[in-house]
Amino acid sequence: EPRVTFDNVVFGYDPDRTILHGLSFEVPAGGHVAIVGPSGAGKSTIARLLFRFYDPWQGRVLIDGQDIREVSQESVRAAIGIVPQDSVLFNDTIGYNIAYGHDGATQEQVVAAARGAAILPFVERLPQGFDTEVGERGLKLSGGEKQRVAIARTLVKDPPILLLDEATSALDSRTERDILATLHRVSAHRTSISIAHRLSTIADADTILVMEAGQLAEQGSHADLLRRD
Ligand code: ADP
Ligand code: ADP
Repeated sequence: EPRVTFDNVVFGYDPDRTILHGLSFEVPAGGHVAIVGPSGAGKSTIARLLFRFYDPWQGRVLIDGQDIREVSQESVRAAIGIVPQDSVLFNDTIGYNIAYGHDGATQEQVVAAARGAAILPFVERLPQGFDTEVGERGLKLSGGEKQRVAIARTLVKDPPILLLDEATSALDSRTERDILATLHRVSAHRTSISIAHRLSTIADADTILVMEAGQLAEQGSHADLLRRD
């Protein structure tokens, strides 16, 4: 059973303009899928439907075979860890930033969980540790370091599905490759969906979905896509 299924999804933001025209695809558990395509193709719309900011006009979005309209919004959102392009960090410590959103857990507990969840490769590469203050009153993190903290904050919740929405697009491609390689090393078993417009982002993906004007233009491995050209 696929982890994520889009089944003939039709959707638009305004009633007179359809954005997704009957989109179908599946992501197997543990699969690493990249969704690419030109700006405006509908990539982020897929993310918003999966996170249930909106419901499809027609068709279904399923997680583990269940229509996400039939389960609570909380459980849908618990299943999906989103990392957006420009993560906002609090003007506080790295540890606090990673712990944020863990109701009832102390920062120590979250940091311990972080160590257990093997997110350390992300934090170890930072100039200093969990107690480092970031933002105005502390260390200025680079864009790449900020995204490492943001990814760690998401991974520590151990979501079965990781949704990267242009999460590394603003970084130089070397930093991007570095972060994605770390991510796939610590998280090989986790299902990941990376939305990107740049080819360097898709190096680690096992399946590439090429979106064009709200439809799937092509899908396959790197080798499949190259063969077709
Ligand atoms: P991509 O991520 O591939 O760049 P999007 O999914 O963001 O594309 O957008 C697909 C289309 O939907 C675009 O034409 C965009 O202008 C339109 N769109 C996106 N968000 C909204 C919105 N909130 N309201 C109306 N139209 C939107
Ligand atoms: P809007 O059309 O007003 O931008 P959206 O439905 O796109 O509304 O988004 C609702 C909220 O969810 C906004 O606060 C937006 O920042 C956030 N959001 C939307 N898409 C994403 C995404 N892919 N990743 C993270 N946050 C998102």
